[in-house]
Amino acid sequence: LGGTPEQEAYMRDIIEQFTVDTNYLNQIRDRFIKEMDKGLEKNGATLAMIPSYVEGRKEEGHFLALDLGGTNLRVVLVTLLGEGKFKTVSSKSRVSDELKIGPMRNLCDYIAECVDTFLTEQGLEDQETELNLGYTFSFPVLQSKINRGILSTWTKGFACTGAAGKDPVLLLQDALLRKHVPVKVSALVNDTVGTLLSNAYNKPDTLAGLILGTGANGAYIEKMSNIKKWKGGKTTSDEMIINMEFGAFDNERKILPLTRFDNKLDRESINPHSQIYEKMISGMYLGEISRNVLTDMIDRELLLKRDEHTSIAWSKDISRHWSFETAFMSNIEADNSKDFTNTKEILDTNLNLHDITTTEAKFIKKICELVGKRAARLAAASIAAIVEHTGVAEKGCDIGIDGSLYEFYPSFEARMYEALEEMLPEIKDLHNTIRLGLARDGSGVGAALTACVAARME
Ligand code: ADP
Repeated sequence: LGGTPEQEAYMRDIIEQFTVDTNYLNQIRDRFIKEMDKGLEKNGATLAMIPSYVEGRKEEGHFLALDLGGTNLRVVLVTLLGEGKFKTVSSKSRVSDELKIGPMRNLCDYIAECVDTFLTEQGLEDQETELNLGYTFSFPVLQSKINRGILSTWTKGFACTGAAGKDPVLLLQDALLRKHVPVKVSALVNDTVGTLLSNAYNKPDTLAGLILGTGANGAYIEKMSNIKKWKGGKTTSDEMIINMEFGAFDNERKILPLTRFDNKLDRESINPHSQIYEKMISGMYLGEISRNVLTDMIDRELLLKRDEHTSIAWSKDISRHWSFETAFMSNIEADNSKDFTNTKEILDTNLNLHDITTTEAKFIKKICELVGKRAARLAAASIAAIVEHTGVAEKGCDIGIDGSLYEFYPSFEARMYEALEEMLPEIKDLHNTIRLGLARDGSGVGAALTACVAARME
């Protein structure tokens, strides 16, 4: 890369640590398959493999969807027109850090208020009949019915008090009643299940739905006969969607190639020792992993070495946790200019890193590339596992994916395909056989679809 011998040696080591070759990927995929089987067999396994209670798919009518995903809260009015067609209108608001860690009652009141405002904006506040709402609540919930469940634990930076061990549907319904909002929470939906359903609404060969946004998770269609732990009695369909909760894959740290930068991130997170796979592949964390590498280089005087006085002033922002956002990585990776003009500008405006040299910019871009590429390849291992486990390699399938990381990070999808080709060499035309595709706002439409299924079941 044109650095000093010390810099070059450091980078060689970093490249080695962040590279996951085909052989290693295959081992990860195989372990993933084993963990899937364990999760289907009994409760309490690392991959929770939660039956979603969702069986049906083709529906029509007006439904509300509410998506509490991580960064934003979305309220969506979905009009299902049948035959794979739908219309949506939505509003989006930010969930403040204060709400994320405060009492659950405050969060629910805030959500109810957002729904109320949205209904007023849409002229739906005086509805005679209650609107059915599908609640996409994307945290590990053990479901007992289509609209009942218990939150086992928070993830992705949430830590509201008075919520773990409780039913998020009842808590929200209470808040809606307190405000007299004419809405019935009729379905509880994980965002991966919603993404799968919305993708399946116009792509009937959909096998799985993935989220690659703030967090990472996936759902797929499983045969009832494989869900050994099922105790819910007879179902109308012989298939059910399973929410894998795969962010927790390898919480035992048996196989994932964790570096000291990952360990540092985990230790300093609000949920240490959990969501280990998610922490290596999702939007909330990639910037922080990269920042950990950058600060390590700074500490070793391999990067941004200036006179003592200025370097202290400079390192202030980059030393702050979470200051290096995953979106910066996207922009840096997209910078193909000869002298890295955009990279320099991003670092200048966002982190007060002035006068970055071209060589330094090159190093920083390389680090982003290593972290981003590893994430895409590791994420692909989950798809390879689902494909192998379900045995659809020959027939082919669609996989719907939602989330800013997948949508905006340059080459994320291309890197996933590349890894899939390595892990599934027997599939000749992989792009047209295992078809990855963006299911934008998929979870909203999916939640509406689930609310419709639920309303019919009553
Ligand atoms: P959520 O998963 O919360 O529903 P998103 O899918 O929008 O919402 O994901 C938000 C996450 O995506 C954030 O963690 C953010 O770091 C990351 N992100 C946002 N924009 C980009 C981008 N341009 N490139 C890569 N990651 C991004």
